[in-house]
Amino acid sequence: MLTIGTKTEFHKAYIDGAWVETRGRFTVTSPATLEPYAEVADCGPDEARAAADAAVRAFASWSKTTAYERAAILQRWYALIIEHQNQLAEIMAREMGKPVTEGRGEVKYAAAFAQWFAEEAKRAYGEIIPTHDNSKRLLTIKTPVGPAYGITPWNFPAGMITRKAAPALAAGCTFISKPAEQTPITALAIAKLWEEAGGPPGTLQVLPALDPVPVSNVFFADRRIRKVTFTGSTEVGKKLYAQSAATMKRISLELGGHAPYLIFEDADLDKAVADVMACKFRNAGQVCVSTNRIYVADPIYDAFAERLTEKVQNLVVGDPLDEKTRMGPLVDRQGFEKVREHVEDALAKGAVARTGGKPKEGLFYEPTVLTEICDGTRLLVEETFGPVAPLLRFKDETEVVRMANDTPYGLAAYVWTRDVGRAFRVAEALQYGIVGVNDPVPSAPHAPFGGVKDSGIGREGGHEGLSEYLDVRYISMGLP
Ligand code: NAD
Repeated sequence: MLTIGTKTEFHKAYIDGAWVETRGRFTVTSPATLEPYAEVADCGPDEARAAADAAVRAFASWSKTTAYERAAILQRWYALIIEHQNQLAEIMAREMGKPVTEGRGEVKYAAAFAQWFAEEAKRAYGEIIPTHDNSKRLLTIKTPVGPAYGITPWNFPAGMITRKAAPALAAGCTFISKPAEQTPITALAIAKLWEEAGGPPGTLQVLPALDPVPVSNVFFADRRIRKVTFTGSTEVGKKLYAQSAATMKRISLELGGHAPYLIFEDADLDKAVADVMACKFRNAGQVCVSTNRIYVADPIYDAFAERLTEKVQNLVVGDPLDEKTRMGPLVDRQGFEKVREHVEDALAKGAVARTGGKPKEGLFYEPTVLTEICDGTRLLVEETFGPVAPLLRFKDETEVVRMANDTPYGLAAYVWTRDVGRAFRVAEALQYGIVGVNDPVPSAPHAPFGGVKDSGIGREGGHEGLSEYLDVRYISMGLP
């Protein structure tokens, strides 16, 4: 068992199987206390070049191992992550304010990617293609794309890393992680567990950096890095998409969302309220698939608003290390100000705060329910990334589907109905990569996660998640 949080390696970068000191360090601040939590290695271009060289060297041997050999290490990694569930949840609570009860769930989710892809890599089948010429045989094999570079956000410090690194490593790629500047310790702890599991040097590396740009530029310019995978904002994702063109890298982008939640009049009101609570207030609303617009059918709108308000008023907000806490602080000042501005804008334009609507001490914000929201309100078009539930009325199915699709985003959408015909009709009409029908948390390691339109390209999880790290090689063989 590791004593995470006190070991000196968590102040260092992890490059080529070694824990490396850097010239400078940066401070990670706990959003719950606003106290410094850790001093972490601040990597720059020198460390990035060393990591790129190591990833290329390690790829030569790692890509030659069998899926069975890689699976054995991934399974040990899975077991170690589960074994350290409590420590990892505690790190996340300190780094970014996620309640420990929720953090334990994230750790299980994160570990499950190692388990799923350990198994899935054994099924990376090629094909024998019926030939057009009897003197030839046509076939395909799957080959790992090459060394991969992954940039991740702070909101799921463990899950976002394993969702990328596990399929990469299972496919035979090597993986360089640049974690979010708010949450490098979780990433380093996960790398420590990879080392413990027997992961060879250079297969998984972690380079924390306060400024992501100089480090990233090295990898983008390097032709040997064949894949980039990014989760974060649409704004940054678009820049990286353009940047990857110069060396024609494979790219996956998991970007922002603006999820509608459609609640029809035949919904089970208590379950629908509980589902919206889970979808909206998990991680204080700092989730890319969190609902941003809750459309409630006119006949049940008032009853729904009343019951949701009551539940929100009972949410226990506080210290993320306390077992009783259900909602912690927002991650940083920038995130906090965005929530405050969005709510102030809505209230100034006539919205009513049924509960909340104000900042609390430090980076805590009151869980909020808003009604009577006018067109032109910022939170109807921009991602709030906070604990704010805006309720809107609708009259019929056609109208609500049109409103739900009226956004450049297309990550997740939700529907509550007991009418199976409507469930299919609406799920098929919504222009989103993920639709949760009577399900507020559809994400699972064995299912494809990802968006359309401005929400990104590619899928993580499922068998699709592995193919993001595999090329198809076609072999045409003449029979001598
Ligand atoms: P962000 O885009 O600012 O940062 C995300 C990551 O990108 C961080 O590691 C950061 O250091 C790095 N980064 C920022 N600018 C960069 C640049 N120019 N070059 C290279 N790297 C750079 O986003 P954020 O504020 O940390 O996260 C919130 C956003 O991420 C939200 O919009 C949310 O919807 C989105 N998100 C999406 C998913 C998903 O799976 N689709 C998951 C989580 C978060």
